[in-house]
Amino acid sequence: MKIYNPIEQGFSEDNCFLCGVPLTNENRTKEHVFPQWLINMFNLGTKKLSLLLNRKEIGYKQIIIPCCKKCNSATLAPLERRVRENFIDFDDDEFNLSDFEVALWAGKIYYGVYLYDYLDAMKDKDIDANLLEYLGDVFTQGDMKILHIYLQSLVKPIFVNCYDKDFPISVVHYNLQVPPHVNRQFDYKTSFEANSFMIRVGRKGFLISFDGGYLTKYLSFDFHKYGSERLHPLQLIELAAHFFTLSESKGNERKYLLKNHKEKITVDYLPDNFRVPYIFDGISDKFLEIFSVLLGREKSSLITGENSRLSYLEDSNGFFKMDVNS
Ligand SMILES: [Zn+2]
Repeated sequence: MKIYNPIEQGFSEDNCFLCGVPLTNENRTKEHVFPQWLINMFNLGTKKLSLLLNRKEIGYKQIIIPCCKKCNSATLAPLERRVRENFIDFDDDEFNLSDFEVALWAGKIYYGVYLYDYLDAMKDKDIDANLLEYLGDVFTQGDMKILHIYLQSLVKPIFVNCYDKDFPISVVHYNLQVPPHVNRQFDYKTSFEANSFMIRVGRKGFLISFDGGYLTKYLSFDFHKYGSERLHPLQLIELAAHFFTLSESKGNERKYLLKNHKEKITVDYLPDNFRVPYIFDGISDKFLEIFSVLLGREKSSLITGENSRLSYLEDSNGFFKMDVNS
């Protein structure tokens, strides 16, 4: 079985985003990047998401990518069903999605939003050529390429030899407080430069990067130390700002060898001696910039004194609890 490589073969409305098969009237379907159950559950039907290009806003419902019938119903549907069950039908104790399942499911959203944005930009005859090239470059980056390969693992087994022996994707997972109003129970944020994203679905929040497990292998402690808390959504945003900052500072060009064998795909990450000491105080300019964008606040309003800034996670006494109902 071949691996579909849209970067070499060209992106088009007329190929399935996942397997690459040419689409005809017989096999064409539309894949909702944000699934219908999610849109219904969190009232996203009338809400909009800011896309990267031109800061254009588009309704969650309208973000649709080309997909074949087989991928839509046979390949993607079982995973979608499991994710939906875990978020809709199960309570906290029963949550039993693996990090890999969450990463694939959320990774399809992350990939799909960029793909929609890119295909939409290609249709715009007034588009600035530099902008179009800039967006197309997203897909040539190592981490984005590997994400598309992982998505294809739904069709063909994949074996990865990566930094963290067990797991080729950095995923950090938090338990959250759920705001009383449904309109505030979902959130999705990305950082283009960082090649990573945050997704909050009710009582669970995830920070994800398709980086070979680099972030969680080498730099995990600060991200995991809040694992036993039930965080406020603002606290998740602060952690996302750290995650994106760190993710951006390490670059996203880790090298790997990809082989397509008859029965499986293998990915071998090459040793990476790149290490950036990261200080979690978050006073760096880059952190403040990312944090302010995620919060939608002026950067200057985050600085509270010399070497101190607004934090929802900790004060001088350490972690403090925030209550979503107050
Ligand atoms: Zn397909």
